[in-house]
Amino acid sequence: MTDQTQRVAIVTGAARGIGAATAIRLAADGFAVAVVDLEEAAGKDTVEKITAAGGRALAVGADVSDAEQVTAAVARVAAELGAPTVLVNNAGVLRDNLLFKMSELDWDTVMNVHLKGAFLMSKAVQKHMVDAGYGRIVNLSSSSALGNRGQANYSAAKAGLQGFTKTLAKELGKFGVTANAVAPGFIATDMTAATAERVGLGFEDFKAMAASQIPVARVGVPDDIAHTVSFLVSEGAGFVSGQVVYVAGGPLD
Ligand code: NAP
Repeated sequence: MTDQTQRVAIVTGAARGIGAATAIRLAADGFAVAVVDLEEAAGKDTVEKITAAGGRALAVGADVSDAEQVTAAVARVAAELGAPTVLVNNAGVLRDNLLFKMSELDWDTVMNVHLKGAFLMSKAVQKHMVDAGYGRIVNLSSSSALGNRGQANYSAAKAGLQGFTKTLAKELGKFGVTANAVAPGFIATDMTAATAERVGLGFEDFKAMAASQIPVARVGVPDDIAHTVSFLVSEGAGFVSGQVVYVAGGPLD
């Protein structure tokens, strides 16, 4: 059943990591939250945490890089939770490799999930935002947008998301919609754990090595990003648009 007074947020890739923390935080902030991930079953944990705390949430299975699945997912959210006016494009994958070893599939997969996924989701959700005369879009970029060895695909996608964000801010501002990007530095999640494994390091050693290069002397946690997203999607942040907020424990070169 929809509740006309409660704003509805969609968080993609919300089964775990930064997406799960963000979904839980937005629910605590008062949003009804659609937990979108590749498999509906994968989102159940996040939904259970939200409902156990008294919130409203719905797990929705969709591949954000597939136009038909995106259309169906957004329609289902609108029917079951209410018209979405907050969108967090967080779903992501890594296919790291040095350029000379990077396959076309590695390139396409990363572009499709991060860039095309954000495009399809934003296009599907903006209609509800424009109808409501209100909206908040947050795209997950990365400090890798500034360039990172072994991530030609990922850094290009994350830099692309910054341009995409600024364009959405310009096009949608007059409809009461803001668009911003959050660019995390090192955040401890399954994604960075997988990178540690790939480079042959234990996760604790990998985190300690990363922390030694970070001014606040620790790596980030998903709640660091959830907190930033919470601010950007708040009603009071209506004059903050087209920005890229680096959340990396210090300035980056
Ligand atoms: P994560 O733990 O790997 O979680 C990513 C989630 O996205 C997973 O649940 C994954 O589902 C889902 N997903 C992948 N492809 C999808 C698709 N096509 N459609 C729908 N869902 C999909 O990653 P994370 O570390 O939380 O990262 C979240 C976002 O922050 C990503 O965009 C990432 O690039 C960005 N980021 C992370 C860091 C960091 O240090 N962790 C730094 C900068 C930016 P499966 O489990 O089924 O694959």
